[in-house]
Amino acid sequence: MLKWLKDRFGRSTQSNTPVIIDRDNHPVSRKLISRNALKVIYRLLDHDHEAYLVGGGVRDILLGGRPKDFDVATSATPEQVKKLFGNARIIGRRFKIVHVRFGREIIEVTTFRGSHDGKSKSDAGMLLRDNVYGSLEDDAIRRDLTINALYYNPKTFAITDYTGGVDDIDHECIRIIGDAETRYREDPVRMLRVIRFAAKLDFDVESKTARPIARLGYLLEDVSSSRLFDELLKLLMSGHAAAVWELLQTYQFVDVLFPGLNGYLEAPQHANFIERAMQSTDARIKADKPVTPAFILAALLWPMIERRNNQLIQAGTPAVEAIRIASDEIMSQQIKRIAIPKRFSFVMREIWEMQGRLANRHGKRAYRLMEQKRFRAAYDFLVLREEAGVDLDNLGVWWTEFQDASEEEREAMIQALQRAGNGPKKRRRRPRRKPNGNSKGNASE
Ligand code: ATP
Ligand code: MG
Repeated sequence: MLKWLKDRFGRSTQSNTPVIIDRDNHPVSRKLISRNALKVIYRLLDHDHEAYLVGGGVRDILLGGRPKDFDVATSATPEQVKKLFGNARIIGRRFKIVHVRFGREIIEVTTFRGSHDGKSKSDAGMLLRDNVYGSLEDDAIRRDLTINALYYNPKTFAITDYTGGVDDIDHECIRIIGDAETRYREDPVRMLRVIRFAAKLDFDVESKTARPIARLGYLLEDVSSSRLFDELLKLLMSGHAAAVWELLQTYQFVDVLFPGLNGYLEAPQHANFIERAMQSTDARIKADKPVTPAFILAALLWPMIERRNNQLIQAGTPAVEAIRIASDEIMSQQIKRIAIPKRFSFVMREIWEMQGRLANRHGKRAYRLMEQKRFRAAYDFLVLREEAGVDLDNLGVWWTEFQDASEEEREAMIQALQRAGNGPKKRRRRPRRKPNGNSKGNASE
């Protein structure tokens, strides 16, 4: 049981009687909340609107963590909110929200959502619009998970809980509000949110919440590819990518997000490699080292890239072209599902291309490769492949030693390669064209 939870709060069975947790019974206080979020709430309250802190801001403080952003829910309409703040912008059409900007911090303000009529849903049950406004209670039951539907009022200092969220936080439980299948049909991204929070908080997913997910994964095909990219980024860059990856497999989401990948995961070397890439990203985030989503995305698509690349090479395509063709093919298939922005796909291609080039180390090449902008990422990628059990003739180990070696040692390493037959291949010289002869003779080269 949570330290601060002195009383057990039973789930409110009648949804119109919320559980109110007063200030002495929870750890949320103004000190832990962004000043800007408080400013927004107080101004709304001063203008006779209702306003609360909601979502991750309340959830993460209750769990003893630090919220990454602060969301506000209010009875004021988006237009009313905008009028109160010079620094506010209404965004979204389907789901209007107001962003109030304070330098780099954005406070997201949403108007209480009400229940909607059937007209705002597609035939498949997906919500097309959600701009019907309602009461605080309506808003609570429109939210995704019980742990995300807790409201803190900084004037009364109380938390209002309509859905049993405090109880679920105490039991470390992810529970969707309402009927799971209906809520996933309305917005399939909620399934990814279940996975994200289960992984991030290390909570169990309640059985009714979990059950329909594997069956409904195909609904994600109707979600826009750019929204899926945003969600994927949150899933993989949360510092809990390894746990997310496990759940994506459990819920059979691999092929929905990365069409064609699932079949490769039976090979331990591919499964190990992706797992290691996730673990390594998590470790870097924990150590506050820079990370790029390009690395993890490059790892996820690598089994397919590698296979296609090998096929092309076996069919006689030169290596430099093979990797480009493989990258183009797999990437164009992937971006139909998830819109990977160019700034990342460019880096992914560089990492893939470098995998082949890292084997060519003779002469001055090793030194030149080390100066390449993408060397570090490509080297890390190579080492992970080797650690995952791919036989690369100790290429990763070689590069690790080479980087740690002195100048003389490096020269000796390159000489040793030459002796072992890894040096530059001698090019056969083309026979010179005779000035007046026909040149067809070199077709056999
Ligand atoms: P974090 O910001 O730490 O990722 P969060 O819970 O605050 O977590 P946001 O994406 O900021 O997540 O959303 C704020 C709140 O809006 C959520 O806590 C939830 O109550 C509600 N919400 C977000 N997405 C959905 C959705 N797809 N369906 C229903 N409610 C949602
Ligand atoms: Mg948030």
